[in-house]
Amino acid sequence: MASTRSVRPTPTAEIAGWDAEADVVVVGYGVAGAAAAGEAAAAGADTLVLEWTGGWGGAAALAGGFIYLGGGTAVQKACGFADTPQEMYKFLMAAMGPGADPAKVGPYCEHSVAHFDWLTDIGVRFNPTFYDQPGSVPGADEGLMYSGGENAWPFYDIAVPAPRGHLPALPPGATRIGERGGGYYLMEPLVRRATELGVRAEFGVRADALCVESDGRIAGVVATRFGRPWNVRARRGVMLAAGGFTYNDDMVGRFAPEVVTRYGAAIEQHDGHAIRMAQAVGADLGRMDGAEVTPGLSAQLIYRGIMVNGLGQRFVTEDTYPGRIGQAILYRADGTAYLLIDQRAYEAAPASPHERTSGPNGKPVPTWLSESLPELESLAALPAGSLESTVSLYNRHAARREDPVLHKTQRWIAPLESPYGLFDLRQPRRAFSLGGLRTDPHGRVLHVAGEPIPGLYAAGRCASGIPVWGYASGTSLGDGSFFGRRAGRAAAADG
Ligand SMILES: Cc1cc2nc3c(=O)[nH]c(=O)nc-3n(C[C@H](O)[C@H](O)[C@H](O)COP(=O)(O)OP(=O)(O)OC[C@H]3O[C@@H](n4cnc5c(N)ncnc54)[C@H](O)[C@@H]3O)c2cc1C
Repeated sequence: MASTRSVRPTPTAEIAGWDAEADVVVVGYGVAGAAAAGEAAAAGADTLVLEWTGGWGGAAALAGGFIYLGGGTAVQKACGFADTPQEMYKFLMAAMGPGADPAKVGPYCEHSVAHFDWLTDIGVRFNPTFYDQPGSVPGADEGLMYSGGENAWPFYDIAVPAPRGHLPALPPGATRIGERGGGYYLMEPLVRRATELGVRAEFGVRADALCVESDGRIAGVVATRFGRPWNVRARRGVMLAAGGFTYNDDMVGRFAPEVVTRYGAAIEQHDGHAIRMAQAVGADLGRMDGAEVTPGLSAQLIYRGIMVNGLGQRFVTEDTYPGRIGQAILYRADGTAYLLIDQRAYEAAPASPHERTSGPNGKPVPTWLSESLPELESLAALPAGSLESTVSLYNRHAARREDPVLHKTQRWIAPLESPYGLFDLRQPRRAFSLGGLRTDPHGRVLHVAGEPIPGLYAAGRCASGIPVWGYASGTSLGDGSFFGRRAGRAAAADG
């Protein structure tokens, strides 16, 4: 899908009349939009949100609800983890990959406890319990989990590990992912607060282009409502919070070609249009090639096996964040990977709730089963002897519960013994875009010439934020809510 609507900016001189106006106009009522609108209104700005769909929520309300927070939150403390902003910073600067912005990661870590406290003050609840298992979501309704590979190599050597994936508590009967996933219980308090502060919302309104004054200041939005043009004036600022470009094949093809057609953790409205609206007034872009990629298999199985590439060689430590494994498969193994596991480890792995399963035991079934490694090499067309050699090296060290090659942690190391199962992981993985508009730490969109574009703000996945290349679960709802708030305050004070 590609957005074909024109993004050409409209000079205000050509606007015959305004259909609506506000101090701050927010495009998109997902996590960044709700956080921004609430803070703009709290700062005294008359605030209007334009939302394309029929209601608030966006991808955020469908999300599992991980919010990446740390530095010593009340939940971390209650679960017995000591964390500091400094250790959180060291981890994020390493794990978010080349391009991680100290000017954003710094304040994000420094004010993370305050952001957590603010979220609980507005009514987001977190259970003070820790889930000590790998997976994409907790088993029950635990409020804290490792969600970025903090306790896996190389990160345990870089920063003192602490779990930072915080999850909103669910009411009885609710499910972690779905129509009202964990993210809904973050969104509901954000929207309730914004509404109480007087934020107005127009649903079924799609932003198409920006309106620009003759001096270059952004003065509003040209939108479509009931199929007709609808012009909205912004007296202080326009805040873009419309999500990323996962569903724009043309943009993905140009910026992150490896992830074309791999839609995941996004909604169709993430069509890149808002990014293009800002590009049309000269906005710069940040690391558009970044993508979160899922590995396509339960972490409970991956941690217990060994992952090999098309040469039958290990290439990523298996007990790390699954998204890191997904990226390694796509970018380092050219999309070709297999997981070798033995029967004992397979049986020891609990079925993972909320993960795709195919077997009668609630677990995926290996693609090939065999008592012999040479037979598996032949079935998977791996070079003769490659798997045997990899397993022999792994087992030699695993007997002493060591892994000098990829430094898996002891808990997950055990020699692999016949009979074996081999999972073919060459199937398409799901991915979502991380790149977006270049912004300063207050959400001001930067022009390619370097300075902020007057009156234009962005946060959430249409901006380049905390996760630029690497990812940790919760950095999207985390940076969307954190920098959304900052952008809302800055826009309210503009002009
Ligand atoms: C199933 C699932 C699970 C996930 N789990 C997690 C998780 O646990 N933790 C995490 O951090 N992230 C998670 N994510 C990702 C996360 O939800 C998104 O990255 C995040 O919501 C992005 O925030 P946003 O404000 O940029 O976009 P959204 O929250 O999607 O909000 C954008 C809004 O803008 C609207 N919009 C788009 N274009 C326009 C337009 N032109 N005019 C008007 N409105 C427009 C959209 O309809 C939408 O309501 C998950 C996503 C999914 C789908």
